Amino acid sequence: MRGASYAWSGWLAVALVVLAHVLQSLSAGAYHGGARLTAYPKHVLVLTAHPDDECMFFAPTIHALLAHNVTVSALCLSRGDADGLGHVRAQELVRSYGVLGVPAKRVACVDDPHLQDGMQRTWAPARVRDAVRTHMNGTHIDTILTFDAGGVSLHPNHRALFHGAVQLQSELATPLSLWTLHTWSWRIKFWGVLVSVLQRGGRDYVFRSSMREYAQSLQAMYQHQTQLVWFRYLYVLFSSYMYANRVRLVVQAL
Ligand SMILES: [Zn+2]
Repeated sequence: MRGASYAWSGWLAVALVVLAHVLQSLSAGAYHGGARLTAYPKHVLVLTAHPDDECMFFAPTIHALLAHNVTVSALCLSRGDADGLGHVRAQELVRSYGVLGVPAKRVACVDDPHLQDGMQRTWAPARVRDAVRTHMNGTHIDTILTFDAGGVSLHPNHRALFHGAVQLQSELATPLSLWTLHTWSWRIKFWGVLVSVLQRGGRDYVFRSSMREYAQSLQAMYQHQTQLVWFRYLYVLFSSYMYANRVRLVVQAL
């Protein structure tokens, strides 16, 4: 009897996941306040800390923006050189963005001695601010998309981006919107597609990938060959960030 009960539980779990994937496909797209998003920025800068952040965390938003003809450019503030593979990882970054649909000419990767990859490396917000400001010179970027204060994984490099972006936003003479990626609690972060289909967003934006876009994100992750250790295969299956992003509009440019 116990065997039969386990079998039923297993089938129920499979049915639930299949149903969630169907709902995910039916509700793919961008939402605000429960309704379809209608107004988009013109040029969004995706500000990340390490090569692979773009596809592990931000891919659903990038897909939605590109689908609505928003110009997307990328600034990664380190080459991810913690293991001495920075020169390879910088190339993987460009290839990954290429798969997501962002051309190489719009992808920049900084190699600054004060902004090196590492859990023990402290990035001063002023240094982040200056690097972003230099990059933005002469561009028409109207929105920065980056991590929130939780940094998704509590990685200090991720969190520093938030503080640097807030500083920059408050000092710029020209209006600039700031969007930040919501940090989910670890209790629900790995419920994958279930978290995606159940979230409504409230006053936040929700960007939900179609299955085709999810497959594209997997292909982007595959470009990061140096990072494909066994637990990353589990990550791309179970992380809710692979299926949807909840993004807070911290500051709306006038
Ligand atoms: Zn990272």
